[in-house]
Amino acid sequence: MSDKKNIRQEILLRLARENTPISDTPPQSAASYFGVNTFNDRAMRDYLPKDVYKKLRQTMRDGEKLDPGIANTVAHAMKEWAIDKGVTHYTHWFQPQTGLTAEKHDSFLEYDGNSVIERFKGSQLVQGEPDASSFPSGGARTTFEARGYTMWDPTSPAFIVDGPKGGILCIPSLFISYTGEALDKKTPLLRSMEALSNSALKVLRLFGKEDITRVHTTIGTEQEYFLIDKSFYNLRPDLQLTGRTLLGAPSPKGQQLDDHYFGSIKERVLAFMQDAEHELYKLGVPATTRHNEVAPHQFEIAPIFAEANVGADRNQVIMEVLKKIANRHNLALLLHEKPFAGINGSGKHNNWSMADSQGNNLLDPGDTPEQNLQFLIFLIATLKAVYDYGGLLRMTIASAGNDHRLGANEAPPAIISVFLGERLNKILDDIKKGKQSKKAEEYIIDMGIDKIPAILRDYTDRNRTSPFAFTGQKFEFRAVGSSASVSLPNTVLSAAVADSLDIILKDIESEMNAGQKRDDAVLKVLQKYVIETEPIRFEGNNYSKEWEEEAAKRGLPNVKTTGYALDFLIKENNTAMLERQNIYRKSEIVNRYHTKLEQYVTALEIEKQTLCDLVNTRVVPAVFEYQSRLLEVIKGLRDLNGLMDGEPFDEQTEILKEVTHLMRELRQRCSELEKTSSKTVSIESLPEQAKFYADYITKGMDAVREPADKLEQLLPDDLWPLPKYSEMLFIM
Ligand code: ADP
Ligand code: MG
Repeated sequence: MSDKKNIRQEILLRLARENTPISDTPPQSAASYFGVNTFNDRAMRDYLPKDVYKKLRQTMRDGEKLDPGIANTVAHAMKEWAIDKGVTHYTHWFQPQTGLTAEKHDSFLEYDGNSVIERFKGSQLVQGEPDASSFPSGGARTTFEARGYTMWDPTSPAFIVDGPKGGILCIPSLFISYTGEALDKKTPLLRSMEALSNSALKVLRLFGKEDITRVHTTIGTEQEYFLIDKSFYNLRPDLQLTGRTLLGAPSPKGQQLDDHYFGSIKERVLAFMQDAEHELYKLGVPATTRHNEVAPHQFEIAPIFAEANVGADRNQVIMEVLKKIANRHNLALLLHEKPFAGINGSGKHNNWSMADSQGNNLLDPGDTPEQNLQFLIFLIATLKAVYDYGGLLRMTIASAGNDHRLGANEAPPAIISVFLGERLNKILDDIKKGKQSKKAEEYIIDMGIDKIPAILRDYTDRNRTSPFAFTGQKFEFRAVGSSASVSLPNTVLSAAVADSLDIILKDIESEMNAGQKRDDAVLKVLQKYVIETEPIRFEGNNYSKEWEEEAAKRGLPNVKTTGYALDFLIKENNTAMLERQNIYRKSEIVNRYHTKLEQYVTALEIEKQTLCDLVNTRVVPAVFEYQSRLLEVIKGLRDLNGLMDGEPFDEQTEILKEVTHLMRELRQRCSELEKTSSKTVSIESLPEQAKFYADYITKGMDAVREPADKLEQLLPDDLWPLPKYSEMLFIM
């Protein structure tokens, strides 16, 4: 080999030389600075007059409408607080439908003709007006009426993002069109929380709970991600432009040894984690868990759960902070669901439950038969929601990225089913068989319903293969993708559970009107729904082939690609439920459907182009290099032949032939892909286009990858232009 090192090899040498960057976070107790960058309870009390503080708290805690009279005072206080912390600008921070967050910075400065002062008015706090025309709306607005406005969401605390020269005050906001249509993901989430609260309250009233004023949806997100060295990332346009490696031969060592999960954390990664946590704590995000995940260089971070809107905001903050801090540590954060083929993908376990206004978890069984009965209503309502709207839930997690992960051996399949665990299953099976002649009290004791908590408390059975598992006092929706906003899955889940609760409650009431006692009525209705929802329950191995067959027999949908899964959104019964629960207007559903289709098609189009670029500008030239090296050798050997006593040199020509053949194959497949892709322009309907991409473009890309990955394994290491899996996943 010549001493001319290629750029990959230089990185490897540099990484070996460099010291691990050490965290710049001084060790200190997290409690001493937790939340200092949020306009939290302490800040509000310090900066607001008492009566205003009280009113704002009520809005934040109980969802009461904000008194518009206090907006100016709150805005002024927020500004004072922020300026004391070196803030110069503010922004309405919101979640457009693209899943990222959006911000447009405005300064506090006001100029009165002579001098500048720093001012922040109530009207600026409450409402902002970004140029909405550039955000995806799925056709909600034509350009001339491209006006939308952002509206302060007082239920989620404002926070400060530190900048190199002064911070930015971020005001969590909603994004709405002038005709009142939600253009963001947060507004429907809030509506779903409202819907769930209304329905759940009615159930609690049935149990005489008059003092409960509200039910909160709670979520806790376990965020998975990969970290790789930034220099590798910079050499991979596919990672930069699409989030995943479009080419890459498997590393001889992958995750076979399972030696990464919960293993000790590398010092460089630990430094990153500590800095990220420091930043998150300042932002009031209680990130409490960190560990290595199954795949090499894969990790997880999980905060303590919160109310759904706050939890969803926090997850966005977590993703942003991880990205920012990784960059500071010369690392690249990969949030894509499947950055490396053949290696475990990343998800976001979305833990979901409901809590009443006194903090009681409604999916926690409780201590008395009555509490257990109430628990069973919420449990079975969730089962029913997943059973009735499994397809719709599948839609909520659909993305080009997640398509690679779902069903790929290490992640739940695209079939939505519920895991309850042996004990709960037994209880439900007993309810199913229950003799209706018995009195509820006897029945409860017979069925073991009086002792659910005792049973569940030492209950440790887990099924990691399930897409939707009951884990003690919450459900864990595990099929959510790692890069996704959790707003949509939670919106649909809460709406569907609200709807199931309504139906169950109506049935219970009609039994009671017919003369049944409450507990008898409850049990009778629950029995009906235990039977009805049985097909959604699955305790076995979700990764197995047999489950796919069994699920098909049960009539559960198994839609593998986003191009098809998005259609669940516009199915009659699904839209009817979403409208009935006041989550979306019809037009909002249509807009979202189109936005999601557009995003999917665009993502695949970018992937396709990036792949072709990589092949043409990196792989093919590298093959030429190798060919010319081989030719030189062959020529040299031929010249020498007389001296070699007729020793054959087939090896060299064999390799040359193989390489040449693979390159021809590669080029042919690329041009076939281009040809297939050119057909998309003639497909006018966007849904049809999405299906075409799902069926043909993805396959075309897989076909291109095959010979390219073989070439990677044949070419001399110094000629290969892209960082390899064995480097990105093992060297840091
Ligand atoms: P597990 O071992 O089941 O994953 P953890 O205790 O580690 O459980 O919790 C995982 C995530 O679930 C955390 O983010 C946690 O805050 C969240 N979680 C716990 N209880 C609830 C709840 N009642 N509602 C929503 N999320 C919850
Ligand atoms: Mg978990």
